[in-house]
Amino acid sequence: MMKPLFRALISCIALSAFLAPAAMAVTSSVKPVYYVPTDKSWSFSDFHGVQCGVRNVQRWYSRELFNDNARFDKVITYYGNYSSNHCLNVNMGDCIADVVNGTGIDPWTNDKYRAKLLIIGRGFQGWAGGTGDTAGHGYAVVGAESLVAQSECAGNWWCNQEVWNGTVIHELGHTFSLPHSADPNSIMGAHSDFENKHFTAGEPSTVATDPATPTKDPNWTRCEFDEQCASNRCGCNGGNTMYCLPHSGYPKYCSSGSIPNWEHCRNDSDCQSGYCAPDHRGEYACLPHTGYQYCPNTDIFIP
Ligand SMILES: [Zn+2]
Repeated sequence: MMKPLFRALISCIALSAFLAPAAMAVTSSVKPVYYVPTDKSWSFSDFHGVQCGVRNVQRWYSRELFNDNARFDKVITYYGNYSSNHCLNVNMGDCIADVVNGTGIDPWTNDKYRAKLLIIGRGFQGWAGGTGDTAGHGYAVVGAESLVAQSECAGNWWCNQEVWNGTVIHELGHTFSLPHSADPNSIMGAHSDFENKHFTAGEPSTVATDPATPTKDPNWTRCEFDEQCASNRCGCNGGNTMYCLPHSGYPKYCSSGSIPNWEHCRNDSDCQSGYCAPDHRGEYACLPHTGYQYCPNTDIFIP
């Protein structure tokens, strides 16, 4: 069920569609779509903000899942056929259908390639809801203002990036079939304080059964942070490239000043440029100079 945050914070209900397991291997991923309604315009800074926010959510899932990562596709923009007022106040279902029809991403298809459709709507304000199952299907809808345009939602308690992160994590949890939790430590009982909230009890194992959560990356895969690696260890082994390292016998430090632009980094001193910061994907990388500020207004959460 979809309910605006400002009416009822955690009253959205996860509706599970129970489907027979497919015989063949199924792949699924979270497919983020930035919805720009007819009365709103697109900007690089908003779009980068959305990418950086989505990246935070992906990192959180890597932290919370024991053996898996959540698979996310790149954020795409969809120019909608409805106004933000129509979506927010008249019929959100029209706008969801607009995305499905316009992008071809059907969250309920039973193809081998399935989708957790994540609609991030400009002008959707505090709207937040999600539903899905553990067979790779589902969708969630959230507003963008609390992430990228706080001046347009000022005065609402949810109007900040920290709550946006927690809200998307929570609604995506519903797309993995998770119900609400009474555990004060579970993100499924809250939208705030996401860095200190977790998946608790059986929540991680439920999410891990979904084809949208493949196993963590094997040794010597290129990496950005520890939790994406099966070894829980990402580093340079003294060189200039970050890999998932087999064990603590392989040092994490990078050769000082050795990493070229656009490659993952740990610290400023690792980079040829002397500048390690979130890039346009919200991933930490060596950037040419401090003039590159892709996530200037979006705190990036590093597990
Ligand atoms: Zn909920």
